[in-house]
Amino acid sequence: MPTVKVFTLFKCSICGLIFDNEQGALECEEQGEYRPEFSVGDFVTTDTDDYGRFGWFDGDSDWVMKKPRGLHSDKQSFSLIYVVTAVEPRNHMAIYHLGTKAMTRKSGYRFGWTIFNSHYNLYAVDLTIALDQDGLLGVKTDQLI
Ligand SMILES: [Zn+2]
Repeated sequence: MPTVKVFTLFKCSICGLIFDNEQGALECEEQGEYRPEFSVGDFVTTDTDDYGRFGWFDGDSDWVMKKPRGLHSDKQSFSLIYVVTAVEPRNHMAIYHLGTKAMTRKSGYRFGWTIFNSHYNLYAVDLTIALDQDGLLGVKTDQLI
């Protein structure tokens, strides 16, 4: 006669992860609901530093904020402007897919995704002119930005 055992599992009601202990599931839920801070069509940048992340770009200069490179150089650095092309929930967080026309497809860097606190955070860019977003909105990528 076989013997059977009963296992009790606990499920996070937000993301659906299964735990073998109640504490794990409760801690998962305490991370809170998926609440995106940005929406598709918002303009953002990945840095607010004095110097930009890029030393070059090969696309549309309207999608670039020019910044100094450093105290001892007269060269420029660049912060790219991105538009949020798609937002997806992942567990308790939002994955932001971004696109920019500052970079061409040939060089890469045109699309990428990020997730807050484990990769680049995003900061709103206040634009007085609307940039041409043709071909960007709706695109999802598996490249990290
Ligand atoms: Zn969860």
